[in-house]
Amino acid sequence: MSIPLSPDVEPLIKYFIVPLQTLQSRAKRLFVEIVNNVKSLWRLNFKCFAVDKRFEEALEVTQIHSVAGLLKHKGSLVTTRPFRSPHHSASGPSLVGGGSFPRPGEISLAHRGILFLDELTEFKRDVLEFLRQPLEDGYVSISRTRQSVSFPAQFTLIASTNPCPCGYYGDTIQPCTCTPRSREQYWARLSGPLMDRIDLQVGVNRLKPEEITQQPMGEASDPVRERVQVARDRARSRFQDTTLCCNAEMQSRHLRQWCPLDDASRTLLEAAIRKLGLSVRASDRILKVARTIADLAGDEPLKPQHIAEAVQYRTIDRMQ
Ligand SMILES: [Zn+2]
Repeated sequence: MSIPLSPDVEPLIKYFIVPLQTLQSRAKRLFVEIVNNVKSLWRLNFKCFAVDKRFEEALEVTQIHSVAGLLKHKGSLVTTRPFRSPHHSASGPSLVGGGSFPRPGEISLAHRGILFLDELTEFKRDVLEFLRQPLEDGYVSISRTRQSVSFPAQFTLIASTNPCPCGYYGDTIQPCTCTPRSREQYWARLSGPLMDRIDLQVGVNRLKPEEITQQPMGEASDPVRERVQVARDRARSRFQDTTLCCNAEMQSRHLRQWCPLDDASRTLLEAAIRKLGLSVRASDRILKVARTIADLAGDEPLKPQHIAEAVQYRTIDRMQ
């Protein structure tokens, strides 16, 4: 399916969806601030840009839905990528799984698909903390006295939230009425280790009325999807002698091998680490994103502009 992209969608495609889809096929996670609720937009766009699901992936998704008793047609494969969007009042067990006879939670039902958490800061902090381990490992273990089970949980986490309690911090039209202290308390609801695990943090400003009416339609979704596929093929051929299949799976030793930095790039990254107080984990994520940006541009060696763009995807770190 190819759709023409409307002007309000285009920045999201360019700065968010394309890098995301290219970055990794496994456990992609990111974060975006958005002014409006664009749940249907995500659903639509990810269907357009998602690279094809392999048979084995469809089988895994079908097995999980079968265990959860959610299979609509017994004996048939679930061929679409799941899209789950639990409410912010969701409990820990409903999110990660549980029960006396353990059943998969939302993160496993989103396996090989999207887990969309709208109004992320409204979720209970301890519930969000349950996400940390699955985001790292790609599965969740549930122990009970009688049995212990593991469910796969390789999902793309997409979350959205307002930038502050009033919702207008950084808005070009309406001024923010919050105090610095209340904004600080607002962001404190999300822990540093959770934010560290998020690859892309993107701020999206509201379009001005004239931008909405005067901008021409963007390009169709098919060429965008082709660009994603070319960049992912480039990564796959790089990893042909390894078990890796996408940039997000690179560990520190892989980063040293495939993301060597020239002097200018190193200086830039060191300055960002100092200024934003980044952890090792967060700076590794910048390298993976920079590698992805270079793949999209068709460049092999990393250049300062790739690092600079990747640093721009740490919106929340830059706000704090
Ligand atoms: Zn505000």
